[in-house]
Amino acid sequence: MTTPQQLYNLQEIDHRIDGIDAERERLQKRLAAGVNRPDLTSDAEHHYARAVAVGANVVSRREEMERLRERLNSLEARLYSSNTSRRDLSTIQREVDSAKYQLNQLDELLLELEEEQRTHEAAALAARDEMATAAVEWQDLIEALNDRLAELEKDRETTASERQVLAAALPAADLQRYERLRRNKSGTAIAMVDNGRVCLACRMTLTSNVLRQLRDKSKQVPCSTCGRILYQP
Ligand SMILES: [Zn+2]
Repeated sequence: MTTPQQLYNLQEIDHRIDGIDAERERLQKRLAAGVNRPDLTSDAEHHYARAVAVGANVVSRREEMERLRERLNSLEARLYSSNTSRRDLSTIQREVDSAKYQLNQLDELLLELEEEQRTHEAAALAARDEMATAAVEWQDLIEALNDRLAELEKDRETTASERQVLAAALPAADLQRYERLRRNKSGTAIAMVDNGRVCLACRMTLTSNVLRQLRDKSKQVPCSTCGRILYQP
């Protein structure tokens, strides 16, 4: 004769196995789905390309400044030369002023360009860093998930052999009935009785007839509402 207590113990083990299987499925799904790692490759490439283009512009503007400075030097040399005629002097002076003005303009432009170049360089690096960090985080997560899966696997083996020992002690007909009930009653075949009079699975108050029958601890008494086998410790 199988007692409700034996079936309840078996169910406790089955619920543990259910919990392990549910967690295992969740972790496997998580691993299979991967993670939404940010793909900032095009972002990084865009900023890098801009930084290179602006950098080339900076180089050519510096060369332009160099040429302007040389021109200014030679103009100033002529300006202070004793061989220069008075009429030429005013022309040269105008050219000197113009060259100085252009130099100033170029200097300001260069400051702006260099700032723009730095901004794009920093943005390209930030995008690459962000991707690298996400990749490392994902690797760590994969490791943690796999560690947990291995733990669950071991736990499941131990629990399954515990179940085997318990199940082997029960008559086949009782075991089949229990398993059929588990399938039909969302995993719970055996319902604990609470406060001495309530079925904990369906929350209905038990009839006095059922309560009377429950005094015999070896008897399998079904709940008259949900049909589960009642267990009163
Ligand atoms: Zn019930």
